[in-house]
Amino acid sequence: MRRKTLTICEICGGSQPSGTADFLVFHCLTFCSPGCLDDYRAADDVRRAEKEAPRATLSKSPRPRAA
Ligand SMILES: [Zn+2]
Repeated sequence: MRRKTLTICEICGGSQPSGTADFLVFHCLTFCSPGCLDDYRAADDVRRAEKEAPRATLSKSPRPRAA
């Protein structure tokens, strides 16, 4: 019995590469397109920044939009 490894994108769950010839691998995670990889990177950056400086992130209250 041969077991077929199914590759699934970490972000959108797609099982086929889109926008690339092959899946992209980043930190042992798989992404179907540069866009999905960017999404993960952005989320990872935010998570890391919050971990490193949670107070700095929290103390920065978002300003109300001024037009
Ligand atoms: Zn994807």
